[in-house]
Amino acid sequence: MNKVYAVGIGPGDAAFMTEAARAALAASDVICGYTVYVDLIQPLFPQKVFYATPMMQEMKRCRWALETAKQGKTVAMVCSGDSGVYGMAGLLLQLAEAYEDIEIEVVCGVTAAVSGAAVLGAPIGHDFCVISLSDLLTPWDLIEERLRCAAKGDFIVCLYNPKSKKRTEHLGRACEILLEEKSPDTVCGWVKQIGRKGQESNIIALSALADEPIDMFTTVWVGSSMTKVCAGRMVTPRGYENGGRLAMPGGHEGGGRIAMLSGYEGGGRAMPGGHENAGKMSAAQEYEYK
Ligand code: SAH
Repeated sequence: MNKVYAVGIGPGDAAFMTEAARAALAASDVICGYTVYVDLIQPLFPQKVFYATPMMQEMKRCRWALETAKQGKTVAMVCSGDSGVYGMAGLLLQLAEAYEDIEIEVVCGVTAAVSGAAVLGAPIGHDFCVISLSDLLTPWDLIEERLRCAAKGDFIVCLYNPKSKKRTEHLGRACEILLEEKSPDTVCGWVKQIGRKGQESNIIALSALADEPIDMFTTVWVGSSMTKVCAGRMVTPRGYENGGRLAMPGGHEGGGRIAMLSGYEGGGRAMPGGHENAGKMSAAQEYEYK
């Protein structure tokens, strides 16, 4: 069949791969991808044909997949995490415009923002955004502007591609920008090699983040003003339970109703950790194209 699956395999460990991803790989004649990911999944499908390409060969890899599909094969193009999050799915669809009769199916995967969040606790329990610090495909000025806007919006900011051997200054600069709006005590966390051998993590204050041993295999979470440490884990509450009453932002009270699950916002009430919610919502190519 003339088909290419763009498959997100999750962070690494086979336990985090979806059934749909596994089925797509099983249904493919050939599996291609960046060497590291091919190595991760090869043991699961020992009889399959694999085609591994090194970094910086994204166009070549996509064209190879499309050309192979044109010859009547079913091809799986694997990416870590989700294939559409700084992955190959978009490029594959763009290049596929030049091909007739090749079906592209994007199979979602567990992206690092989500798999690493579970390692830290529950850091993205409220509005968050994802920003890549790689300026290989995005001008650095634009990255700075997005960091500024994210900090102004009091989002939890999840940073991909935080550092590489060549881009060592970006994380420090990103922290400086975030510190223009966010408190130095803002709770942050990072996880290295999520779901892989050598997984490591830490929870620290924003003021100390830039000095942490963070590399290109690490994802970083910078909390919002509501983020705190609970039982040693990083948590951004969805809201607050105030004696079983629902207190809504903007001063609306949920008089006497029981707050279920994680509850709603505590409009105008003092928040744990000293944050106030005063009536408003507080609210490669080196690596990325894999
Ligand atoms: N498609 C991937 C993202 C690729 S961009 C996804 O959806 O997760 C590459 C960046 O993703 C890395 O620099 C790192 O910040 C993050 N990342 C991907 N896999 C990771 C893992 N297993 N552990 C830690 N960070 C990871």
